[in-house]
Amino acid sequence: MTNLVSGMRPTGKLHLGHYLGVLRNWIDLQNSQKYNCFFFIADWHSLTTKYEDTSELKNNILEITRDFLASGLNPEKSTIYIQSAIPEIAELHLLLSMITPNNWAERDPTLKDLVKAAAGGDEAKEANISLTYGMLGYPILQTADILTFKGALVPVGKDQEAHLEMSREIARRFNYIFDCEFFAEPKPLFTDTPLVHGIDGRKMSKSWNNDIKISATEEETMVQVKKMITDTQRIKRSDPGDVERCLVPFPYYKVFANEEIIAQVKQECETASRGCIDCKKQLAEIINLYFKPIRERRANFSDEQIKDILKNGNQKARLVAQNTLKELKNIMKLY
Ligand code: SF4
Repeated sequence: MTNLVSGMRPTGKLHLGHYLGVLRNWIDLQNSQKYNCFFFIADWHSLTTKYEDTSELKNNILEITRDFLASGLNPEKSTIYIQSAIPEIAELHLLLSMITPNNWAERDPTLKDLVKAAAGGDEAKEANISLTYGMLGYPILQTADILTFKGALVPVGKDQEAHLEMSREIARRFNYIFDCEFFAEPKPLFTDTPLVHGIDGRKMSKSWNNDIKISATEEETMVQVKKMITDTQRIKRSDPGDVERCLVPFPYYKVFANEEIIAQVKQECETASRGCIDCKKQLAEIINLYFKPIRERRANFSDEQIKDILKNGNQKARLVAQNTLKELKNIMKLY
């Protein structure tokens, strides 16, 4: 079976943007039983832009794992592990950095994204961000994440395709230098992600407080949904709306509601027989219904259970990683 590798940074409890953009795809891929899935928590990656304050990191790892498990990732079907628990990834990162030309790292599009992330979305700040060695090495670490597990497929959105190119080039270069076909060039596996925004119409982000957490209570979800931006040209309740102009709620209906409800919302919105307040109330109820079982499962995982699951996942991942490094060192004629 083909190995598939993907990771997520532990930034805290996950929101619906993470769920729809990444997690739901992971679960589908896992359940398709077509791939040998390796899903990891990228705690080293989170240090590239947030190294000064690590006080929340351990707790964030538990919370993200709780979201993974409650949403349907299954440790019996997928290998779920913490990046920093696998020292072979760091070792491979070092070995690959020896063969990677500096200008490859400098031109990698990931670097621009990291600078943006470090500036917290503040464009004025971007110019003053000083690059760290860790930022420059990020795409090589990302390559090590994949190649340690001989990942042949990496699930990405269409816009992320360029980020994988460097991993392919490094794999190719290694094979060329050492005259072997040890690494498969990892290929992107394009996944569909619905375009949904944060409640204010921007990208959903915890730092902008425009998110809805998977773990939110029904009341918290209702509060956030009620703040969603709708069709800004619909001023009065009696004005007909346009679902295509409805920036936030309607795209959520398209994700979470059935065809019949979607058609009803469209018809009632466009004839002004439905107001935005009632429409958002119904949407919050639909979202709450969808996440009810996930939230219930989430509440049932103790910290100890999660730590045990991660410990087992780390052990399972490490065996694979040790094997890869053993073979690789053999090829490189290293001790
Ligand atoms: S009625 Fe619903 S779909 Fe129409 S603009 Fe308002 S929130 Fe959007």
